[in-house]
Amino acid sequence: MFGVVPKTLWERAYAPADAKNRIPMAAKVLLLESAERKILVDTGNSPYMNPKLQDIYGITFEEYSLETSLSAHGLQTSDITDVLLTHLHFDHVGGAVLGDGSPRFAHAKHYVQRDHYAWAKQPTEKDRASFVTEMYEPLFERNMVELLDGAGEIFPGVCVEPLFGHTQAMQGVIVRDGASTLFYPADLMPTGAHVPVPYVMGYDNHPLITIAEKKRLLPRIIDEEWIVVFEHDALRDAARVVMGDKGPMLSPPITLTA
Ligand SMILES: [Zn+2]
Repeated sequence: MFGVVPKTLWERAYAPADAKNRIPMAAKVLLLESAERKILVDTGNSPYMNPKLQDIYGITFEEYSLETSLSAHGLQTSDITDVLLTHLHFDHVGGAVLGDGSPRFAHAKHYVQRDHYAWAKQPTEKDRASFVTEMYEPLFERNMVELLDGAGEIFPGVCVEPLFGHTQAMQGVIVRDGASTLFYPADLMPTGAHVPVPYVMGYDNHPLITIAEKKRLLPRIIDEEWIVVFEHDALRDAARVVMGDKGPMLSPPITLTA
């Protein structure tokens, strides 16, 4: 998760690794509610994924699942109107399709960047293992996906921003309510420990592009006091970023409830 950063440093910045060199992680889904829409950003992992792979990554659904998390907000999967998919890697799209190939969010329109879908059809050897076609092709077969072309405002106050370092045309999501800005960077900054510019994942197809994208966005994140949501962070939901002596650093964590 930390590329070329030495383990002694990332263990201090994030958490100690277990005997298999794994760290605690999450696959968090963002729920955005308005009177008309119930929007999810990403869908987490699939409970129907090959058990061997689930074991390798230590994926469990005992503590959290989409159904229990939605019901805590008085919602069911059928209430979801829209699913913004940042990209089609299994730990982001896995929750979108059930074991029999039917859509989990039966009434929802799903959104992904056209460029990213083209990439997913012909991935490189480096990220091929992250694309599990059964997890998203059923949505395309049922015409439940709208392909997006570049940046734009998808719903009032909800914008997408394509990013190219992690994988081709992953879309970050920026939400503004007039008072504050929420940024869901997906795998650009998967945990709070990835805020420092050189803390880049070994998973990234183009680490130098990830670095350039972080350098481009961090001044706005800091100046405009964006709340950054960390999708894979098991230790914190979100935080603002401030400029410290050694560069950008996290403010105290923020728990997202509504
Ligand atoms: Zn990814």
